[in-house]
Amino acid sequence: MPEKLIIIGGGPAGLSAAIYAAREGFEPLVIAGFAAGGQLLLTTVVENYPGFPDGIDGPEIIMQMRTQAEKFGTRFINENATGVDFSAKPYKVYVDEKAYEAQSVIVATGADSVWLGIESEKKLMGKGVSSCATCDGPFYKGKDVVVVGGGDTAMEDSIFLTRFANSVTVVHRRDILRASKIMQEKAKSNQKIKFIWNSTIDEIKGDAKVSSVVIKDLNTGVKTELQVQGVFIAIGHRPNTDIFKGKLKIDEKGYLVTENEVETGIEGVYVAGDVFDSYYRQAVTASSSGVKAALRVREYLSDLSSP
Ligand SMILES: Cc1cc2nc3c(=O)[nH]c(=O)nc-3n(C[C@H](O)[C@H](O)[C@H](O)COP(=O)(O)OP(=O)(O)OC[C@H]3O[C@@H](n4cnc5c(N)ncnc54)[C@H](O)[C@@H]3O)c2cc1C
Repeated sequence: MPEKLIIIGGGPAGLSAAIYAAREGFEPLVIAGFAAGGQLLLTTVVENYPGFPDGIDGPEIIMQMRTQAEKFGTRFINENATGVDFSAKPYKVYVDEKAYEAQSVIVATGADSVWLGIESEKKLMGKGVSSCATCDGPFYKGKDVVVVGGGDTAMEDSIFLTRFANSVTVVHRRDILRASKIMQEKAKSNQKIKFIWNSTIDEIKGDAKVSSVVIKDLNTGVKTELQVQGVFIAIGHRPNTDIFKGKLKIDEKGYLVTENEVETGIEGVYVAGDVFDSYYRQAVTASSSGVKAALRVREYLSDLSSP
């Protein structure tokens, strides 16, 4: 017998969908991925998730969501889906050679931030290193921070961070920005923002928290140290859509393309969270689309079973 619903992805979108679908009695199977839990595992205190006035750690939100989903009958596999077949019903989701069949599927595989890839970044992630200015900016009142990147996101993040930070230093590997003219002008005219060109972050220093960065001039190789308390990496996001190439519509940046909020154009296959939403990128908005997808599954399955 095929599953009623398979959810691919175990972040806020997939888990919120699972809670709703499980309470409907669909016993969803969540293929949660090796990084089961998603991006919230990379952060410490989350202050903007409704219901937690004192804040809650990202991994704790995920643990609670997962417990809630399990309580109502969700089952989990902590492996990556390696392929899908939506060309015929029942749909198939592959984990290596094993095929799982389902009447409906929710794709909630998220998007990973692109990181610098240096050891010290990993060590201090969530301890001053972040890729989400909207999420973590308010923690840096009166502090000095660095933003890495030269695109629109880096400029938006820098301008936003000036509402809290004492100073924002943009470190960019080239001598021109990729950002749109208007964003460049806004950033360049902001007194709190300064730019360090042709440079990269060589090392992030600090024990329990970020205390400084070592900036390397790519032309001269000269290294300088800057005292900062926050490092925001804004060099892009990579949506996890490789296994959907040729199966679902994907835009030029790799995000899934949806119709009517969470539809894919294939009946019974829905999308939720950061894998299609390159704009809001918040746990609550990911959860919200997970719920919408689960409610669409309810409609779809009830249409299937009605005579
Ligand atoms: C450093 C940082 C701090 C943040 N802080 C906040 C905050 O304070 N507040 C806030 O609201 N938001 C915050 N966010 C953003 C928030 O984490 C994301 O918007 C949210 O997690 C997106 O949820 P999602 O379920 O769509 O995707 P993700 O969280 O990315 O989860 C995707 C899931 O899919 C799985 N997956 C991927 N590929 C496969 C595959 N092939 N097979 C099976 N599973 C797969 C992954 O393992 C993961 O479980 C932060 C993000 C970062 C990076």
